[in-house]
Amino acid sequence: MGLFDPYKGFGVTFSTMFKKPTTEQYPEQKKETAPRFHGRHQLNRHPDGLEKCVGCELCAWACPADAIYVEGADNTEAERYSPGERYGSVYQINYLRCILCGLCIEACPTRALTMSNDYELADDSRRDLIFTKEQLLAPLSEGMEAPPHPMRLGGSETDYYTRDPDAPLPWQMASAGEDGEDGEDGEDGEDGEDGEHSRADEVPAHGAGSELPR
Ligand code: SF4
Ligand code: SF4
Repeated sequence: MGLFDPYKGFGVTFSTMFKKPTTEQYPEQKKETAPRFHGRHQLNRHPDGLEKCVGCELCAWACPADAIYVEGADNTEAERYSPGERYGSVYQINYLRCILCGLCIEACPTRALTMSNDYELADDSRRDLIFTKEQLLAPLSEGMEAPPHPMRLGGSETDYYTRDPDAPLPWQMASAGEDGEDGEDGEDGEDGEDGEHSRADEVPAHGAGSELPR
């Protein structure tokens, strides 16, 4: 060790004392993530509320941490959860294993699985860190109906999948027709009494939720 080395070391300490601290005051002040941050997963829905997951297990096979467990089952006309032949009847992600790498969402052929920006995944219970399908499913947005129910966007799979995403949804067209009829009569009708038409009357079922990725 040279004669001046201790002074050099203290010099580093001394110069650091005048730099702005970078300490983050979490959890009082939460830091905003990058838009494409890989956080908690979400199982997405079609615009009528049916699930996009077809229970193919590709996400589970792609996962390097063996964190995903999927069981598929057949849809029936009486009990339909997705527009295709199969749906994911059991879906679990173990966040004790997940390293948030995103390989599972790359593997998903239907964009059923995406990742949100939610990074608060700590818990003191191992059991609570295994998220079930019910926890992972996206909330029902306006106009969506909780499955099981028939395909609302077209009778056949071709109609359902090839519809123009910008085209109005069937229940929006129905309500527009009703509004048009009201207009022809020149009467306000029940909805027109107060000059407002509630969207809640137009849709088959409702749930809280936000805009979902498609
Ligand atoms: S993000 Fe990575 S580790 Fe987590 S479930 Fe998906 S593939 Fe597995
Ligand atoms: S989330 Fe995607 S990859 Fe995983 S089982 Fe469902 S459809 Fe298949």
